[in-house]
Amino acid sequence: MGKISLEEFQDQVSQLLIRHRSVLDVLSKTQESTARVNRALTKAVTECGCVEVSARKQPYDTDKSLKEHQSHLDTHYSGPLCEHCKDVLTAELGKNLFYLTALCNIADIKLADVLETEGKRLNTLGVFNLS
Ligand SMILES: [Zn+2]
Repeated sequence: MGKISLEEFQDQVSQLLIRHRSVLDVLSKTQESTARVNRALTKAVTECGCVEVSARKQPYDTDKSLKEHQSHLDTHYSGPLCEHCKDVLTAELGKNLFYLTALCNIADIKLADVLETEGKRLNTLGVFNLS
């Protein structure tokens, strides 16, 4: 399959979303699919073991500029995901995107506009306002 555009994806979602028309169903499915993304990554750590999470407090020196901190900040994540876990996580992320897109459809928001607006916001704010 070739790459599909955001418009095509949004259109696919709108055609497939017959059983979950209620916004309440879609909201609850969005939340459930987010939990499944978390679960997929957690299982990669605790059941498969291909990924390791080693976390501690991030060092933060108030004398340094925000830019200087970028290189010291750690994801606490060591991969890579094995093929199986990557497939599972990819599928769960896809379902999450599906329900987020379904929410866009119900609210009459274009997915492409969401990305464009957020992209512009990121350009304006810069790296250290991503909380
Ligand atoms: Zn794995």
